[in-house]
Amino acid sequence: MRFNSEIQYLKGVGPRRAAALARIGIATLGDLLHFLPRRYIDRTMITPIGSLKANVTATIIGRILGKGILKGKRQRLEVVIGDDTGYVALIWFAGLRYLEKTFTKGEIYAITGPVTYFQQLQMVHPEIERIEDIDSQLIHTGRIVPIYPSTAELKESGLSGRVMRQIINRALESVGDMIHDHLPADYLKEYDQWPLLRAILNIHYPESTDCIERARKRLAFDELLQLQYLILNTRRNYTSVNKRHRYLAPGQKLKTFVTALPFKLTDAQADAVREIFADMKNDKPMHRLLQGDVGCGKTVVAMLASVYAAENKLQTAFMAPTELLAEQHYHNWREPLAAIGIEAALISGKQIKSEKNENILRLQEGDISIIFGTHALLSAPIKFKNLGLAIIDEQHRFGVLQRGQLIGKGDHPDTLVMTATPIPRTLALTLYGDLDITSIRSLPPGRQPTKTVWRSAASRPEIYKFLKTKLQDGEQIFFIYPLVEKSDKMELQAAEEEYHRLKDTVFSDFKVGLVHGRIKKDAREKAIRDFRDRKLDILVATTVIEVGIDIPSASIMVIEHAERFGLSQLHQLRGRVGRGGKPGTAIAIAVPPISEIANRRLDLFAATSDGFQISEADLKLRGPGEFFGTRQHGLPELKIADLSIDTDLLPITRKIAIHLLADDKSLDREEHHLLIYLAEAADFRQTLTRFG
Ligand code: ADP
Ligand code: MG
Repeated sequence: MRFNSEIQYLKGVGPRRAAALARIGIATLGDLLHFLPRRYIDRTMITPIGSLKANVTATIIGRILGKGILKGKRQRLEVVIGDDTGYVALIWFAGLRYLEKTFTKGEIYAITGPVTYFQQLQMVHPEIERIEDIDSQLIHTGRIVPIYPSTAELKESGLSGRVMRQIINRALESVGDMIHDHLPADYLKEYDQWPLLRAILNIHYPESTDCIERARKRLAFDELLQLQYLILNTRRNYTSVNKRHRYLAPGQKLKTFVTALPFKLTDAQADAVREIFADMKNDKPMHRLLQGDVGCGKTVVAMLASVYAAENKLQTAFMAPTELLAEQHYHNWREPLAAIGIEAALISGKQIKSEKNENILRLQEGDISIIFGTHALLSAPIKFKNLGLAIIDEQHRFGVLQRGQLIGKGDHPDTLVMTATPIPRTLALTLYGDLDITSIRSLPPGRQPTKTVWRSAASRPEIYKFLKTKLQDGEQIFFIYPLVEKSDKMELQAAEEEYHRLKDTVFSDFKVGLVHGRIKKDAREKAIRDFRDRKLDILVATTVIEVGIDIPSASIMVIEHAERFGLSQLHQLRGRVGRGGKPGTAIAIAVPPISEIANRRLDLFAATSDGFQISEADLKLRGPGEFFGTRQHGLPELKIADLSIDTDLLPITRKIAIHLLADDKSLDREEHHLLIYLAEAADFRQTLTRFG
């Protein structure tokens, strides 16, 4: 057996279990050895229930003795858990039904959380983890026991925690001796890293709790090095081709277009345009990221690039993440483009067939220069005569795979991706390490930062009073409701109910509209148009408006259930108001229970208006809903490294990858081994084809 051997041949695994493991990303023995315990249970960390005290955070292990949903002023779930020394109540105020079903009498749980006293000792909203009998026995032997993450499917295929431990032990036995380190010894010394074997042994059976982090760090080092190799290698591949098309100097159409704009480009926009045009004139295809805070005016920069392309008889594909946004871009730009003789069109999932087919045909024949659309642009029937420029708006909503698909519609077109999620430089070099980066760091003139406050739900009556005075002054208000999953019916229903409540009771003197993803296109468009034309005072919306919707006259935004949003998302939302010269106001309403992290997030949201700072803070907070994962950027998912705590490894691993891939490299033998190892690992994962 070797590191790369398929897992199914390991004794005790077999095809069925292998399939279940594959689904969590474990295909080889190496993967299995890199499978991180979710946590460890160390006997010294467990408090006997009988010695719990109020106002400390503790971990306990016990058996479920009983449970029940209690009515009262506030409905709650109470679960009683006990060990030989005593028992304690676990309390939940939210998610009662689901949690109630989770617990079965007699089962053993590890519980972690703060202990409080209210008529009795209790733990409110603690972290829970079901553990098996055998685990608790091991704990009593005094070892540090790894607890592996589990899924329903793993359990169904017989991969209980105990079995996981068995097969991992077996894997350690069968390849342990053969684990030789691909990192040169010099590197280990220079970067103060453990040898691989020691790291792997300690990640599963740590010599002490201090060893866990050292072991993890080494494995994270390897993972990030692989990632950097992948990215930089992709970049090298980009620059190894020459594009077919050539650009002339900017001509009359472009000049007329710029003159006709209702505003003057800011210096930052003009700089961005210059950089992009220089790329377009270059022999190598452009791969550029345009990043800038929400509302900084990226769209017009992209449009100038597409006009430049059209002038040179090249087509542009402009891909947006939502239908609404694609429609909006199309509606905003169709006429100014037509005025200079450039034909634009929209491909929409909701278009009638004949209209769509006509667009497809005209696109293929080259009659359409600029096509707007969602990922519908990626579908097979969409063909270009001469795609020269691929623009991807709100790129964090797409994966690299989709970027690659769009690029594939042409012969090495130039690519411009845009994002309103500016990120710190070290991180950008990783997540966008295959791209050149242009940042727009200033907002158009006259734009004042949106004043932001957050309040608890109890303040709603005062907020409504305040809003009414604003409505009477003729201001327009967005009400935003969270929609975590597009398909979540309950949340849609909640948004609809709130809409009726606001329309029929609270704001019955005003005109209220509703828009969300499930509303038919016509009605949705009408609502947005009416809001834009000031026929509506209030627009109730789900997060569909988060990405890019531009209604300059709206100046106030109320964000409901703000505790559920991530910091960057809140910031994106807020960017929708205060665009019309009037300063914007954002009111975030949080509904208890508000976790500590949500509290900090909301404080930061109210205190900071700079998108770059927000991103950095988001990175540090890592609340739920954070989107700094590599996955969202279409990169392979990180299983061990955590971009928020392993930032120190980013520049190091990048430096090594650059060194290994340099054309004039003078590698010693060990480095050569490492390079081969990285290339094989990348090949093996077939990510090279998936990536770019
Ligand atoms: P984003 O960068 O978030 O995509 P948009 O491109 O949607 O921002 O621009 C936001 C708003 O700013 C739009 O209404 C746009 O017309 C306006 N805008 C863009 N550039 C300028 C400028 N130089 N001066 C004034 N307004 C501008
Ligand atoms: Mg935009």
